[in-house]
Amino acid sequence: MPANPMDDPGGTPDSYWAATAVAGPDVPAFAGSETADIVVIGAGYTGLSAALHLAERGKSVLVLDANEPGWGASGRNNGQVVAALKHEPHEIEERFGKERGSELIRVVGQGPDLVFGLIERYGMQCDARRTGILTAAHSAASLSDLKRRVEVWQGRGAPIEMLTRAEIATKSGTEFYAGGCIDSRGGSINPLGYARGLARAVLQHGGAIRRDAFVRGIARKGNGWSLTLDRGTVDAGTVIIGTNGYTGDFWPGLKKTFLPARTPQVVSKPLGDNQRRTILPDGQIMSDTRYLTVGVRMHPDGRLHLGGGGGTAGADSAALYRELPEHGKKLFPHLGELEWEYRWSGFMAMTPDRYPRLFELAPGVASVLGYSGRGICTATILGRELARWAAGDAGIDQLALPASSFRTLPYYPLRGLIVEGAVLFHTIRDRAAHAS
Ligand SMILES: Cc1cc2nc3c(=O)[nH]c(=O)nc-3n(C[C@H](O)[C@H](O)[C@H](O)COP(=O)(O)OP(=O)(O)OC[C@H]3O[C@@H](n4cnc5c(N)ncnc54)[C@H](O)[C@@H]3O)c2cc1C
Repeated sequence: MPANPMDDPGGTPDSYWAATAVAGPDVPAFAGSETADIVVIGAGYTGLSAALHLAERGKSVLVLDANEPGWGASGRNNGQVVAALKHEPHEIEERFGKERGSELIRVVGQGPDLVFGLIERYGMQCDARRTGILTAAHSAASLSDLKRRVEVWQGRGAPIEMLTRAEIATKSGTEFYAGGCIDSRGGSINPLGYARGLARAVLQHGGAIRRDAFVRGIARKGNGWSLTLDRGTVDAGTVIIGTNGYTGDFWPGLKKTFLPARTPQVVSKPLGDNQRRTILPDGQIMSDTRYLTVGVRMHPDGRLHLGGGGGTAGADSAALYRELPEHGKKLFPHLGELEWEYRWSGFMAMTPDRYPRLFELAPGVASVLGYSGRGICTATILGRELARWAAGDAGIDQLALPASSFRTLPYYPLRGLIVEGAVLFHTIRDRAAHAS
């Protein structure tokens, strides 16, 4: 039975991020009717980046979130700051054409500069580390693909290096992988800390944020728009929608443009000194080439963090968290049975081709969503792009991501079966590839 993402419990989830992030800024609850030049729905990276880039320029902007800043995927993810979409450069150029494609590659490649730059500029306390990202190859075939990918990126001047089997084993602390690479542009953050830092920066520049502000509908009013909430209305000239995997029914069909997939994260109790020393000793974060990628982190307090590796469109359940500890045993057999102190999940918005979607839904209403699990940089970039659009600096067709025509997925009602089927299929495929 597919879950409605917005039915997940309110408040901060019992996550490692919630336990370690700095407190969020004081944000008042939505209390009655308001007006703003520009209203943003959703206080994750998309909405907060849009609001920050508008507020920095003195624009009047109001962010509404049904929960609180960072409640969605932005406060629940693995914290991998990656300088790429899920596609190879030539695929991006084939999809969007040489000119638009290479511009998109360039902008996305600068994503970590933007994210780490904002963190530095606003002094955000979010455990930011720009130590590079490791990608480990789970099979001989994926290692050849990775070599090709690295060569292509090197040809474009990206600071990426291949690592031999022995090198990735030393850098990661596991002998599970056939080889890998390191991309020095990337790094890691406490994702909830980053979301809260963005919210604080929005307020610092005079932007407004309201929590407990569940938008139920949007209707035309004069030359602008009127949003209906549980306790009043908000009138605005321009509306930015940044609700990603948590998008509901407030705009007809929008939630049917992607499949919401709930994915798990687990964090262990602190390991002993000798155990922790060998795992990711240089402070990098690691992902792998499996379709159901597993993200691996070692926290400064010695806790092992694993994320991904499976998912569901349904409710949170014990079954969702079975695979990650098993995978952990394969990666680090010497650790034995670990105690997993934190576990939580969040919804990704998966598009069939794993490209995000930018929609101009009506004059003055735009949305970007569908990050397919790669949203820290991309949502920050595309939030900034929507700010350019809302400020009147650029038309929707002049933004870094070409706009999509609005199309709902005809098989959306079958999302429960599709997500479960895809997880099963890719689990078997990833395991078979590793064994071969
Ligand atoms: C488990 C997990 C791991 C991930 N790991 C990584 C990673 O390591 N690296 C990476 O780059 N990306 C990762 N991602 C993806 C990334 O987290 C997301 O792409 C990104 O956070 C999306 O940000 P957003 O602002 O668009 O949406 P969200 O952060 O999901 O925010 C949406 C907000 O909209 C609000 N909302 C929804 N409906 C309404 C409404 N009707 N009215 C008012 N408010 C509403 C919600 O309350 C929510 O706060 C991961 C995602 C998940 C779930």
